[in-house]
Amino acid sequence: MGYNRPAGRHWLQIPGPTNVPDRILRAMDRPTIDHRGPEFQDLTRHILERIGAVFGTADPVVIYPSSGTGAWEAALVNTLSPGDHVLICETGHFSNLWAQLARGLGFEVEVLQGDWRRGADSVQLEARLSEDTDHAIKALCLVHNETSTGVTSDIGAAREVLDALGHPALLMVDAVSSLGCIEVRHDGWRVDVTVSGSQKGLMLPPGLGFNAISATARDANRQARQPRGYWDWQSILATNAQGMFPYTPATNLLFALDTALDMLNEEGLENVFARHRRHARATRAAVDAWGLALVARRPEEYSSAVTAVSMPEGFDADAFRAHVLERFDMSLGSGLAKLQGRVFRIGHLGDFNDLALMGTLAGVELGLAEFGIASKTSGISAAMQTLKQS
Ligand code: PLP
Repeated sequence: MGYNRPAGRHWLQIPGPTNVPDRILRAMDRPTIDHRGPEFQDLTRHILERIGAVFGTADPVVIYPSSGTGAWEAALVNTLSPGDHVLICETGHFSNLWAQLARGLGFEVEVLQGDWRRGADSVQLEARLSEDTDHAIKALCLVHNETSTGVTSDIGAAREVLDALGHPALLMVDAVSSLGCIEVRHDGWRVDVTVSGSQKGLMLPPGLGFNAISATARDANRQARQPRGYWDWQSILATNAQGMFPYTPATNLLFALDTALDMLNEEGLENVFARHRRHARATRAAVDAWGLALVARRPEEYSSAVTAVSMPEGFDADAFRAHVLERFDMSLGSGLAKLQGRVFRIGHLGDFNDLALMGTLAGVELGLAEFGIASKTSGISAAMQTLKQS
């Protein structure tokens, strides 16, 4: 079968991995250096001095050569003991995967069920935690930006519930798809462990996982009896103090991270967040004009990083995505788990600007029309109007 190379650059509009800027690709395109030498020590220190700002913290941030899933596991095994009770708010596919991972590690996992269209419900959370008078629940896990649904959760509200009840559970937050897109306030919300990854708002390829760690979490770590080796914070924190790692680090991804931090600082984090909000607003205007529905129900929970769109009855979202890929060389995010075939997701996060957004929306609009989902109004015009106004 013939294969025609599509001209131009592939449009990677899934909600991560995101498009890696040329400047970051160039930063990685260097010979690997000695990870025990002075140049590497300087690199580590330069990163560790600056990475906390992206997490909104003065606490240490541990960097793993791992995906986000590894960083989820690290958060749990460093702070808990065998059989500990973990409460996870169900917001979508990723909260469920975290729960499954925790179960696999042998923790007693309780899921506060949700309908995948709303963020964590603080009323439900309060009701459950107030029953836990003997404080059996040792950790509360929340996904800040549920990538499968485009719904955010109010982490500050969860912290207030814990505080109001005087509940000592550790607060663990997945910021895999919010970091560098939507403000993460590790210190402000007094999160104990913030988990993240490199391949979304940080604009890097996949391959780095992160844990930002509060003083409370470091205390818990000293008591925690869950077996751990590779993920152990103590050996990493001790070697990081020397500008090193306890094992061979992902050196070239650290070159990339150093440059990503330069880029975020040059733009200014507040501007980065405002840019994501603006593009998300314009995307929603387009979805509205196309006459399609969002998965997210509540405006205050709309994600600035990803918009999940429900396909009209009778149309298969995966066939639509395949069509867009073939016709326009653009990858859109799939519906995950129970949303498979029913939802497609537009990633508008990372290294992204107005024209990239317009190109993305043009690909969706043309694809919808060719797919037989005609709309009376143009999403592109609606999005452009939104961009003009802000
Ligand atoms: N958490 C969220 C919110 C995610 O979006 C993802 C991946 O997309 C993960 C966790 C898992 O990260 P990884 O696929 O890097 O292991």
